[in-house]
Amino acid sequence: MRFALLGSGSAGNSLVVQEGHTTLLLDCGFSLRETILRLARLGLEPEQVSGLLLTHEHVDHSRGAYRFSGHFKAPLYITHGTRVMLEPPPDHLDLRIIDVHDTFTVQDIEVHPYPVPHDAREPAQYVFSNGQSRLGVLTDTGNSTPHIESMLTGCHALVLECNHDIDMLMTNPRYPYPLKQRIRGDYGHLDNMTSKALLSRLDNSSLRHIVAAHLSEKNNRPELARAALSEALNCSEDWINVATQTEGTGWLDLE
Ligand SMILES: [Zn+2]
Ligand SMILES: [Zn+2]
Repeated sequence: MRFALLGSGSAGNSLVVQEGHTTLLLDCGFSLRETILRLARLGLEPEQVSGLLLTHEHVDHSRGAYRFSGHFKAPLYITHGTRVMLEPPPDHLDLRIIDVHDTFTVQDIEVHPYPVPHDAREPAQYVFSNGQSRLGVLTDTGNSTPHIESMLTGCHALVLECNHDIDMLMTNPRYPYPLKQRIRGDYGHLDNMTSKALLSRLDNSSLRHIVAAHLSEKNNRPELARAALSEALNCSEDWINVATQTEGTGWLDLE
């Protein structure tokens, strides 16, 4: 199993995970054209995508979802709450409503959704498995919960939100106070220190890769996220990957 981020941040998110001939996209926050270009950068044709899953309805995750799913006939997996918040889908779309607590399989990949606290109708985050290795993804959550940690413990790779540095956010003169409260609130986004604390409570003995994701370009800096996560793991800062808005990450292998 291997994975890569096509891009990460408030302007668009998408991640690809691949096992054998199965290729899943998690979120499609870029336009159709941009998604195709970013897949090509990773050596993928869009026709290879076996299915598309969404975490929630926010536009930085859903922007290109209907068009991509329709154009390439890839089933779109979403919760009922996400479905309600999006525009009505075109008739030809292969829409699959998922239960946020129920594991399902798409060809060679097991998909384990789980609920998170975020200001969306029914947000889900995911753990992907090929039966041996597990990739845990967590972005767009205001806080950690015991259930989140039970899903992410023991993973072989983690993609973990490091949205903001709390001091940079609170002293940013361009952000009105209510927006600051939304971002840092229990249904907002994880800051570096909360991610660090969450990570330090997990069993990381099998961890091969970690990616800091969904960084704010205005309220965070890659070196702050890297420092926070490396302190939790007691590892070199070089070992922490940071997904960027423009480049995402390259491929990371789990075998
Ligand atoms: Zn987001
Ligand atoms: Zn969101």
